[in-house]
Amino acid sequence: MTKKITIAIDGFSSTGKSTIAKQLAKELSYIYVDTGAMYRAVTLYAMENNFVSETFLHTEKLISKLPTITLSFHFNKDLGFAEMYLNGKNVERAIRTIEVSNLVSKIAAISAVRKKLVAEQQEMGKNKGIVMDGRDIGTVVFPDAELKIFMTASAETRAQRRFQELVERGDQVSFEAVLHNVKERDHLDSTRSDSPLVKAKDAIAIDNSKIDKDEQFSQILSLVNDKLS
Ligand code: C5P
Repeated sequence: MTKKITIAIDGFSSTGKSTIAKQLAKELSYIYVDTGAMYRAVTLYAMENNFVSETFLHTEKLISKLPTITLSFHFNKDLGFAEMYLNGKNVERAIRTIEVSNLVSKIAAISAVRKKLVAEQQEMGKNKGIVMDGRDIGTVVFPDAELKIFMTASAETRAQRRFQELVERGDQVSFEAVLHNVKERDHLDSTRSDSPLVKAKDAIAIDNSKIDKDEQFSQILSLVNDKLS
């Protein structure tokens, strides 16, 4: 039987984690899980139920509803990756708006939310053969992952990438708003008390501000091959 490993990819927002994770999953025929999509889907649920806004957060109300929130991924053959479903509805597009981005770090700081999602993530990865990206994969979800990557890039580079993506899909948003969101999320994600974004001691740091996507992919693939041999 071919050896299968767990690959944890963590890092700041818009560092290209999902791009590299999708490429690796495709190359290795592994499962890819975007854990950010799960936190975004819970945030969308909280927004739709008026549990969160820029000015309030009804933590207890959200916690009482957590058992009723069902998250699932369904592979879309045309897109080549799995889309996020919230209570049976495709929310892949709805979770990527700047409004969700502006509130997600508040929701992700709630321990009960993290407990639910981490348990689901561990279940998805229990048979290995998985590439998972997020903020706490190498530190909390899979501390024993065979390969841990920690991605960084300058805030401006990351904001430019995210801005481009939003404009390409037709969203009305300014570069300044995206840059502000990127910096704000870096701060909230790194300073929260439960599972803050930190590089695991045994993670390999990759700064992709300057290297191109192909170069980065071959670099990471050779790290994977070292672990598989
Ligand atoms: O990866 P993405 O930028 O879509 O993640 C959205 C947000 O979800 C992050 O800014 C962070 O607040 C939260 N998150 C987290 N832990 C993860 C993945 C995402 O707290 N494993």
